[in-house]
Amino acid sequence: METLSQTRIILSTMERLDSREHLPADLSALLGKTALLQAENTGGLQLDLSGIPLSQVPVCSPLNFSLDMKNFKVLTARIMEAILDERDVMPASMVDAVVQFQGVVEKKGLSFEQAWNEIQTRFAGGDFSGPVLKKWEEQIPDAPSALPFLVMAAAAPSIQAAGRAMAEAKGIDPEQIHAGGACPVCGSPPYMLELRGKEGQRFAHCSFCRFIYRIRRLACACCNIDKADQLSNFTAEGESGFQVETCAECNTYIKTIDFRELDREAFAPLNDLESLPLDMLAANYGYKRMAFSAWCI
Ligand SMILES: [Zn+2]
Ligand SMILES: [Zn+2]
Repeated sequence: METLSQTRIILSTMERLDSREHLPADLSALLGKTALLQAENTGGLQLDLSGIPLSQVPVCSPLNFSLDMKNFKVLTARIMEAILDERDVMPASMVDAVVQFQGVVEKKGLSFEQAWNEIQTRFAGGDFSGPVLKKWEEQIPDAPSALPFLVMAAAAPSIQAAGRAMAEAKGIDPEQIHAGGACPVCGSPPYMLELRGKEGQRFAHCSFCRFIYRIRRLACACCNIDKADQLSNFTAEGESGFQVETCAECNTYIKTIDFRELDREAFAPLNDLESLPLDMLAANYGYKRMAFSAWCI
């Protein structure tokens, strides 16, 4: 059931992306298709949560997450297949990258598993690019994030399920207000915020494990400062349902989804792309984004 309603929300969000001319259509096709494949591949995951310390908050670091390797491999193959099957509508640089990946994977010249380990390290605040990521960044200069994109996209169902399971095991209540803006499960920063309910309860979407948790209404989700004169927000014409929150203290911004007055449901990974013009505005004002998108791009 969950998959069906998720798929319905993704399809209606994709229609909106298509109707917006200023968005890159190839990127919309890529992310929409990938989101659908992720939703289809979430059932029956085998996750190993042994060895995860449940005595602290955040519960763990991105390094503690392990994947259902079968699901990861199947999804990696399906996403690559979809990119090649629909190459006419996909970003040309991504099609190119997938052709190169496929050319070496069978000869064991590329390990997606090793790339995943490097991405975990990156999220845990370690070396930004390990040897595998670095090699492919250099090899495909037109699509330097092609490999992180593919690996994170295929890992997402496992990561998300593991995050939820750990939250449950630890008794983390997503509706309760959490101190600071970082994810109570994995400690990563949020990539999108969302206002819900009559009172505009503020929720954060984790950039790594996609856990959704409530945070304070008036505080920077990055540095946690709560001085009103440092915090600001803006909206833009044509971007209904979205606003940007900025912090003068740490110079970051984050976008907030507010669909409370609109007849639609949020799907943050695609709403992030939908509100791309706001990223450009925020960058023009000199603010840095708080976290990567859910797609590592
Ligand atoms: Zn998280
Ligand atoms: Zn701040």
